[in-house]
Amino acid sequence: MPQRLSTYLKKTYGEKVYRLSLSSGCSCPNRDNGTGGCTFCSEGGSGEFAIDADNPDICDSIERAKEIIRKKTDARKFIAYFQSYTNTYGDVNRLKELYKKAISQDEIVALSLGTRPDCVGPEVMEMLKELNSIKPVWVELGLQTINEETALRVNRGYSLPVFDDAYKRLKEAGIIVIVHVILGLPGESKADMFETVQYLSDLTPPLDGIKLQNLQILKGTRMYEEYLENPADFKIMSMEEYTDLVAECIALLPKETVVHRMTGDGPRKLLVDPLWSLDKKRVINMLAKKVQIE
Ligand code: SF4
Repeated sequence: MPQRLSTYLKKTYGEKVYRLSLSSGCSCPNRDNGTGGCTFCSEGGSGEFAIDADNPDICDSIERAKEIIRKKTDARKFIAYFQSYTNTYGDVNRLKELYKKAISQDEIVALSLGTRPDCVGPEVMEMLKELNSIKPVWVELGLQTINEETALRVNRGYSLPVFDDAYKRLKEAGIIVIVHVILGLPGESKADMFETVQYLSDLTPPLDGIKLQNLQILKGTRMYEEYLENPADFKIMSMEEYTDLVAECIALLPKETVVHRMTGDGPRKLLVDPLWSLDKKRVINMLAKKVQIE
């Protein structure tokens, strides 16, 4: 059966590993191209928790992020985690220097970069290979769905073959790949969502990691406008429905796939629907009862 991220990290690093949410200062081509980006994407670029977004000194940001975690824990190992926006979009030399600095400390055990499959060209691949020879590199790809109609509707801005090609090249380069999927996108049936998860389960080589999350309507997004105009278009699941669905999706995954996330993580102040996802503890407890996972 698939395993949770916490289990994987403990097995791999012998203890609990904490993520430091950092900012690379990158933007996103899907927002810069004038089409407004993915319709569900909030101002923070789908990751509002990065520390010191404007601080040019990455070592300083890392220290501050560590301090925050150490107030509550005795953390000793960390992942340098760049989630917001597209962290391979920009000047490759600048990014290489930034990420090298980030992973130079002994306490940083891995580098995690959120990006898009259309932003891993040859130069970026060379950078990733070089970084991966220093510390393991995880690349997180925001696929969300394999359904091309939905992808167009949410303005994802690339087609499935672009994902397939990026996946193949990243795996050939020895990079750990994690794919994001949103469950409950407008117009999608349960069968559509299973189709996406099954597609990912059938990838060769097997998918390293998956992040599942429920669709969250966030203030300030284009999707929020659509939701206000046409609420009937959005079939927002109840907590029971969602947790049942996650259990079924995880049952489709191969044992090699690590589950990094099972629920939405949108910022409290922006979340409009479903409000049950604010009660993370309850969602996690319900998932724990239903999901077969190590
Ligand atoms: S690719 Fe990511 S950052 Fe860019 S618009 Fe989509 S969700 Fe936002």
